Amino acid sequence: MRRPLIIGNWKMNTTLADATVLTTSIKNNVSDLDIDVVLCPPFVWLYPMAEILEKAPKNIHLGAQNMWFAEKGAMTGEVSPSMLKGLVKYVILGHSERRSHFQEKDDLINDKIHAAFENNLTPIVCVGEHEKMTSEKSKKGPGRPPHLEVKADIYRQLKSALEGISRENAEKLIVAYEPVWAIGTGNAATGAYAAEVIGKLRGVIAKKYGQELSERVRILYGGSVDSDNIKEFIYQPEIDGVLVGGVSLKAKEFIKICREAGGKE
Ligand code: PEP
Repeated sequence: MRRPLIIGNWKMNTTLADATVLTTSIKNNVSDLDIDVVLCPPFVWLYPMAEILEKAPKNIHLGAQNMWFAEKGAMTGEVSPSMLKGLVKYVILGHSERRSHFQEKDDLINDKIHAAFENNLTPIVCVGEHEKMTSEKSKKGPGRPPHLEVKADIYRQLKSALEGISRENAEKLIVAYEPVWAIGTGNAATGAYAAEVIGKLRGVIAKKYGQELSERVRILYGGSVDSDNIKEFIYQPEIDGVLVGGVSLKAKEFIKICREAGGKE
């Protein structure tokens, strides 16, 4: 049985005061749940948030939103795995915003995944079709926009992420299926659709490492998840949790999502 996991990706948001209130409030309201919660604040707030979480229950963790793969050197503005080691347990890699705004390619993401494992960090690897909705074709409401299809591209992204990864590390990896058309659009996938894609992603893992190992890997959905639609995803056996962006900045809503995932809402 895979343990549910809820991740909050704060992106480039929050002041130190906001971050402090948010972390404290989440810490005080999810500790009784039998799930893992990972908060991913901006780099500069990691240390103060680590202090707040120092004596927190074991189910609340910190994650970084990105990192470079080398240990040190002339990489102005970057953060290395060894700097994160000991401060966070998780690191998000290959988020669609990194792939599109910073032109991160599959090979680079694979290098980062290797570096994460070498430093005892658990990578949360994001994959998803990149096609956006054009405004004339966009629609409100749940579900995949009818003119967009899942591209073989996302299975290629996962295969590339797994390149050279040992069996021992593969089962620790966390995968997040995040279609760009659903991120920040208010247009979440349906639970059934996300479960179907996640089933196929699990199939990619099974093909390389066997069915048994693939059943142990946690695969999440992300894209416009909120406290109203969380049930849609969390009760799908194939979906092991969610990665939340915008709504993870709202303590009350994020706590509701966690409590729903923990069966205590
Ligand atoms: C994300 O950026 O990973 C994300 C899922 O964002 P949102 O929840 O805002 O769609």
